[in-house]
Amino acid sequence: MSTYRDLAHRGSARATVLRTVGTRERRSHLTAPRVPTVGIDIGGTKVMAGVVDADGAILETLRTETPDKSKSPKVVEDTIVELVLDLSDRHDVHAVGIGAAGWVDADRNRVLFAPHLSWRDEPLRDRLSGRLAVPVMVDNDANTAAWAEWRFGAGRGEDHLVMITLGTGIGGAILEDGQVKRGKYGVAGEFGHMQVVPGGHRCPCGNRGCWEQYSSGNALVREARELAAADSPVAYNIIDRVHGNIQDITGPLITELAREGDAMCVELLQDIGQWLGVGIANLAAALDPSCFVIGGGVSAADDLLIGPARDAFKRHLTGRGYRPEARITRAELGPEAGMVGAADLARLVARRFRRAKRRRVERHERYERYAAQARGLSRTGSTGGAADRD
Ligand SMILES: [Zn+2]
Repeated sequence: MSTYRDLAHRGSARATVLRTVGTRERRSHLTAPRVPTVGIDIGGTKVMAGVVDADGAILETLRTETPDKSKSPKVVEDTIVELVLDLSDRHDVHAVGIGAAGWVDADRNRVLFAPHLSWRDEPLRDRLSGRLAVPVMVDNDANTAAWAEWRFGAGRGEDHLVMITLGTGIGGAILEDGQVKRGKYGVAGEFGHMQVVPGGHRCPCGNRGCWEQYSSGNALVREARELAAADSPVAYNIIDRVHGNIQDITGPLITELAREGDAMCVELLQDIGQWLGVGIANLAAALDPSCFVIGGGVSAADDLLIGPARDAFKRHLTGRGYRPEARITRAELGPEAGMVGAADLARLVARRFRRAKRRRVERHERYERYAAQARGLSRTGSTGGAADRD
């Protein structure tokens, strides 16, 4: 009896999930309409918006600064709406995809938390689709970047792929069989906060010894500045380059000097790369993908970083020598990956319509909202009546 009830319950729960997801969101990239869509990448400092066609080609890009953390969620929303309206003056926009640096819930509607913005449990998708009158897709920026690399970049043809984005911290995403694995609550892929050194460096997340404290742009710059501040002889070259202003030492400068053969900078990138390889070996133990794609600003160092990462990976992989080894490769799409991926994921929820029809679509959507509201009202009315009769 209880078994039956359990089954029935499970069945209805499944039905609910299918209903809420909707047909359009269950589309695969193979059956999605081949229409141009807008992708928006909201990072810590910049918002990038672009029109992308079905083959991943960027037709136009706009950039603006990310509104300050102190600004209300409405200001960020206004920024997005302005960018989309600007682009839709020159292009047919069939859907809008957003890749945000933050945690997005499993329904991909609400941004639970974004460290650089004022979003706290913000129902971004519903707000924007109400204002833009086109379907809107919201996802984490690491997921959208991974999707782009899988569709158009370094991960083409792979069915088990893990992407690692080395920026100021570490972002991550898991792709399996043509689907982004987001976890039950939508926040899978936070690899940067796996502990790799017990009691190690303090991380802004509140813990100590997180992976991104050893393998990221911030870690690279921190180490270089530490050596420069200690006036170490190995740092004389970089101190000269910034005329003694240690705060001017940046990741790109370290990469540039390493390319010129500066011993300290080469060594620092080796350290970062080695920690990268250790973390990748841990991920391989858990997820066993066929390919790791390394993206983000720090990946510009290319073989200076990825070479040491490959060596460390081989040394730390569990079962080494007795198993196939995953490929480690550099991302191909560059800083536009997040935007391209967001646009392509948006095609999964896109509807075809022409600009000329836009007014009609807007009118129809307004009517739908009005009708839904009216239905909601009549339903509460009848429940109220039933309650009265009781
Ligand atoms: Zn952390």
